[in-house]
Amino acid sequence: MPATHLFLCLKDNYGVLLHDPANGATAAIDAPEAAPVETALKTTGWLLSDILVTHHHADHTGGIAELKERYGCRVVAPRGEAARIPLVDATVREDDEVRVGALRGRVLETPGHTAGHISYFFPADKLAFVGDTLFSIGCGRVIEGTAEMMWQSLLKLRALPDNTRIYCGHEYTKANIRFAKTVEPVNAALKERETEVEKLLAAGQPTIPSIMRAEKAANPFLRADLPEVASSVGLAGSPAWKVFAEIRARKDRS
Ligand code: ZN
Ligand code: FE
Repeated sequence: MPATHLFLCLKDNYGVLLHDPANGATAAIDAPEAAPVETALKTTGWLLSDILVTHHHADHTGGIAELKERYGCRVVAPRGEAARIPLVDATVREDDEVRVGALRGRVLETPGHTAGHISYFFPADKLAFVGDTLFSIGCGRVIEGTAEMMWQSLLKLRALPDNTRIYCGHEYTKANIRFAKTVEPVNAALKERETEVEKLLAAGQPTIPSIMRAEKAANPFLRADLPEVASSVGLAGSPAWKVFAEIRARKDRS
């Protein structure tokens, strides 16, 4: 069984370490900044072997150079963005296997937020590291891709097993819930997630990881193909990606 360690970086970014206790391999998924990653390594006593990068944005890559210099770790990055990420050792694409010690991850291309964004799914461990594609009760802004592309990426993630634990790049859950209620004011699963998130935040705890089952039930961006969601944004009968685009546009304006 792998171990994980989650910690805040920058303002609202998450860093996470994935550790194989069998042989000591440890991956950082993204490296927002070096210092909190080093603190996390000290806290856990783990030694950094790999950095698995989801996308090129500075708040996910800013710590790579310093960490690479200190630990000589391997940097794995999406093929489509390797030129924009420092010190890449290996590039990966859809369906490639990424090993962290004996842990085996699979690469899912999830473009939309950026054109080459990837996610890492560890099927045996039911862990998914989704960067800025999917957030708890939200999703990333569509910056480099199209709404249709982002919707396809979300469908790919939605197809992961219900009990998959979702690690995303930011603590945005509270604001996401506030917005989600404007789309689905009477969703019981959303209400339930809100209660849980209020408790976690009041206790100073992260709302991450979330569980795919709960996201499917409460995240409006994963629910754009439901008739009631289409109706609620005035798009009954429209293709799901258009409903998704409307929800995303409303969130951008909120
Ligand atoms: Zn980003
Ligand atoms: Fe980000």
